[in-house]
Amino acid sequence: MSENSDGLAEQERRRKRINLYKRIIIIFIISIILLPTILCIFLFIKLNLMNKDMKELQQQISEIRNRQESYVAQQDVVPSFGSDITEDSNTETESDEAAATSNVDDVTTEAATTEAATTEVPTTEVATTEQATSANSSPNTDTQNAIKAALAEGRKVVYLTFDDGPYKNTNNLLDVLAKYNVKATFFVTGQKGYNDYLKRIVEDGHSIGLHSMSHDYSKVYASVESFAKEMCDLQEYIYNVTGTRTYLLRFPGGTSNRVSALPISNYIKYCNDNGFVYFDWNVSSGDGGNVASADVVYNNVMKGIKSNKISVVLMHDSYGKQKTFEAVPRIIEALQAQNALILPITMDTKPVHHVN
Ligand code: ZN
Repeated sequence: MSENSDGLAEQERRRKRINLYKRIIIIFIISIILLPTILCIFLFIKLNLMNKDMKELQQQISEIRNRQESYVAQQDVVPSFGSDITEDSNTETESDEAAATSNVDDVTTEAATTEAATTEVPTTEVATTEQATSANSSPNTDTQNAIKAALAEGRKVVYLTFDDGPYKNTNNLLDVLAKYNVKATFFVTGQKGYNDYLKRIVEDGHSIGLHSMSHDYSKVYASVESFAKEMCDLQEYIYNVTGTRTYLLRFPGGTSNRVSALPISNYIKYCNDNGFVYFDWNVSSGDGGNVASADVVYNNVMKGIKSNKISVVLMHDSYGKQKTFEAVPRIIEALQAQNALILPITMDTKPVHHVN
C-alpha cells in the first residue's frame, strides 16, 4: 500500500517536473521570438525620434544661416537698388562702391581678370581645368559680342545666381529654368544628399561655383587656411561628383560681410593668388531673411535690374525659400518680355565686387 502510494507520489512529482520543463521551454521559445521583435520596435521608435531631431537641427541650422545672410544682405545690398534708396540708407562705403560697380559702362571682358585666373594657378593645383582652360584658350567671344550688342540696343544683361543650395527645391528650380531655356549660376555648399542635383546643374549647362563647404562663418573665416580648406574641399567634392573643377567663387555673406575674423583683403588675396574668380552681386532679391511674399522677391529683383545695365542677382535655393521659387518664373517671364540677355556666369564674366 505504502509502495503504491510512494509510486504514485513519484509519478506525480515526475509529471510536475515535466510540466515545469515544458513551461520553461515554451517561455524560452517565446522569449527568443519576442525579444528581437521588441528590440526591433524599440530601435525603430528610437530611429524615428533621432530622424526627427536631425530634421529639427537641420532646420535650425538653415534658420541661423538665413538670419546671418539676412543681416549681411541688409547691410550691404540695399544701395544696389538705385540712388533713390542709397540716399535714404545709412549703408557704408563698400556698398556704394558696389552700386558704382553695377553701373559700369565698359562691359567687355577684362583681360586682366582672365589672366589672373589662368596664370596664377598655384603649382599644387591641377593646372588644367575645364573652366580655366576655356577662359584661357578660347574666350567666349560670341557671348561677349552678344553682351555688347544687347547693351548697344539698350537691353539688360542679367546673371541669375542662386546661393546655399542644393536643396530639395533645386530640382524644381532646374525644371523651371529648363522650361524657359535659361542658364543660371549656382554657388553651392557641400551639404550631402544632393549629388544628383549637383550633376544636373552641370549637365543642364548652368554654371557651378564655390560657396564654401560648410557655410559656417566661424569656420570659413577663422583664418586664410580655413577659408582655403573650405573652398578647396568643396572644389574637390564638386569635381568628384560632376567632373567639373570650378574656380568661380562667392564669399559667404559677400566680400562686404561683417563676420570675417581677418580683414577681407586677406581672403581676396588668397583668391587672386590661387586662380579663384569671386563674384558679389549688385541686385539682391532680399530673400536672405524671411520675405513676406513672392511679390516682394519679384519687385526687389525687377527694381534692382532696372537701375543697372548689367545685373548680378542674388537669390537662394536653400531651405525655406519657397517665395523665391514662386517668384523665379515671373522674373524670367518679365525679363524675357523685355528681351533681356540672361546668362550664366563664366570665367570670362566681368565680376561685380563689393570689395576689390
Ligand atoms: Zn550664402
